[in-house]
Amino acid sequence: MSATSAKIVQVLLPLPFDKAFTYEVPEGMILQKGSYVEVPFRQTKMVGVVWDMAPTETPTYDVKSILRSMDLPPLPSVTQEFVEWVGAYYLSPKGLVLKMALSAPTAFKEMKRPRKISPETHSLNIKEAALTPSQETCAQMIREAIQRQKFTPILLEGVTGSGKTEVYFKGIIEAKAQGKQSLILLPEIALSTQWLDRFMSRFPEPPLVWHSDLTEAKRRETWRAIAKGEASVVVGARSALFLPYPDLGFIVVDEEHDGGYKQDTGVFYQARDMAVVRGKLSDATVVLSSATPSLETIKNVRDGKYTKCTLEARHGGASLPQVHPIDLRKKERKKGEGPQWISGLLRESVQATLGRGEQSLLFLNRRGYAPLMLCEACGHRISCKQCESWMVYHKSEGALRCHHCGQKDRFPTHCPECNEEGSFVACGPGVERVAEEARLAFPEARIEVVTSDTLTSVPQMTALMQRLENREVDIVVGTQVMAKGHHFPYLTLVGIVDGDLGLTGGDLRATERTYQLLHQVSGRAGRAQNPGAVYIQTHVPEHAVVQALIHQDQENFLKLELETRERYELPPFGRLASFILSSDQGDKVEQAAWSLAKAIPQRAGVTVLGPSPASRSKLKGKYRWRFLIKSSRNIRLQPFLKEWVKNSPLPSGVRLQIDLDPYNFL
Ligand code: ADP
Ligand code: ZN
Repeated sequence: MSATSAKIVQVLLPLPFDKAFTYEVPEGMILQKGSYVEVPFRQTKMVGVVWDMAPTETPTYDVKSILRSMDLPPLPSVTQEFVEWVGAYYLSPKGLVLKMALSAPTAFKEMKRPRKISPETHSLNIKEAALTPSQETCAQMIREAIQRQKFTPILLEGVTGSGKTEVYFKGIIEAKAQGKQSLILLPEIALSTQWLDRFMSRFPEPPLVWHSDLTEAKRRETWRAIAKGEASVVVGARSALFLPYPDLGFIVVDEEHDGGYKQDTGVFYQARDMAVVRGKLSDATVVLSSATPSLETIKNVRDGKYTKCTLEARHGGASLPQVHPIDLRKKERKKGEGPQWISGLLRESVQATLGRGEQSLLFLNRRGYAPLMLCEACGHRISCKQCESWMVYHKSEGALRCHHCGQKDRFPTHCPECNEEGSFVACGPGVERVAEEARLAFPEARIEVVTSDTLTSVPQMTALMQRLENREVDIVVGTQVMAKGHHFPYLTLVGIVDGDLGLTGGDLRATERTYQLLHQVSGRAGRAQNPGAVYIQTHVPEHAVVQALIHQDQENFLKLELETRERYELPPFGRLASFILSSDQGDKVEQAAWSLAKAIPQRAGVTVLGPSPASRSKLKGKYRWRFLIKSSRNIRLQPFLKEWVKNSPLPSGVRLQIDLDPYNFL
């Protein structure tokens, strides 16, 4: 049969290609746009999606035939549009975006006896909480938006514990009543047991959970249930956004400001932004929930693009914690004493908290014992060979770890440079070191270190929550894993060990992020009946971030921060993109960067900075160079970037990654 007379379709494959491939439809096979099909590709077989029913051009070569089609509802056309949209915006091959939508490879395998998710009972046995007046106002706004079935983005703002979760639960009920699916995105799904418990206390059935740690069987079941429209509520990590929901009516992005929504591998995307896009494509209501919304979202509210609803008080009348600065410049160190990470005032407060039988959190966003080990004999510092960054000492394991690539070495007994024995001194604190000091200062207290090293699974998280609830722990020394949305009823004191960490990050969001994180940590104190207190140790008590926290004056802080961004045309007032070039060979990547620089197209309003070696000039064994591209808000960067790349083919062995709206500048 000649190719022209055959029935031919375009199939997009989950591979790094932007174009769909042409295949012949065998006699008798009925297909439509969106059908999942297995096709031969190179030496293997692969499942793709019928992207178009017609050929883009008449093939002049032998076209291979589709092997089989899957007995599943077709990929919804909104998902197809979404894949197109994301690919075009992030300049990423559509096939790679599709891969995220098909991210359960075994979902297409024939199973002998497939396990099935038990069908939902559609029982409406929901234990509703009676809402406070301000909760009711917000809930009503969300319900009405869902009923209208028109795209509506809403910022739900309220301090931690003000009852935002209860409010968007009402949206889930409404969406379900409309026969639509709801998707709740959480920044750290693997550790969100409290959220699930909460959900279970309100709803008769658990939601489907989606994240990268699911077993293959669970992935398969979940993906198929979603594709078939059998799941009304899905809670997941950012990747859940790409699943093939037939009729998604309600999306929540919880803690919308959280940096975890930005993906910096594969397809570089910001899930919060794409949730809004996804909502627009299916006329959904999108709730962005936060105590400290991102500046991007705040600007959208000010521009009238998003509606805002605010929850005023903490639920149950619990008062907000008092925030006090501790000026470290005034700290006196007694002669002969080692460094002290817990100042006198903070120490007294912890002691008093212990006395009342309550719990304290000492917060430091640095894992391990010390961020740098220095040889006292020769000045040698231990760095990672893969990354050119300092190795962090983890005393509990007797190991040095690289926090960029995960490299782990035994802590050396002798200096590798001068061979002196036991010559290393620790510089700066990590949580282990603060815990060591706390053990000396409060010998009677039960102290626990909590970081992503110690909390690696859901059961561990649940056990920790139990110990805290049973008051088996007095002091937690923890990193940001302690900051996230959990509720600790007996925790009444938060001591921020280094309030300056993060203020000097040098990237445009450093201040914003520090404020959000410290605000979030502060919110851990005094959530139940007991009022809490927060102490911030700092060398710059006059800094806008510290002042905003002390006076609980978010407005003024935002005003300052927005003014700065506007003055320099930085996001959300301007646009940014990064080019990251990397290679195993340093000279090759440098040459490629300079030849790319020669091909920069001229465009009014677009500025290109660089090339320059990245500040992580070597990461995981790759040498890295960067460009930063800036423009004002009214210029789309994509056409410019595309033209640039088209004009300058890269040598083999050099990789170019494009990061639109970057969050990471290292
Ligand atoms: P947020 O999401 O803003 O941090 P939550 O929704 O988690 O706040 O609410 C904080 C606490 O208050 C939770 O324990 C929740 O069960 C409780 N709560 C919130 N609203 C109500 C309500 N209307 N009735 C009873 N309890 C509520
Ligand atoms: Zn490394």
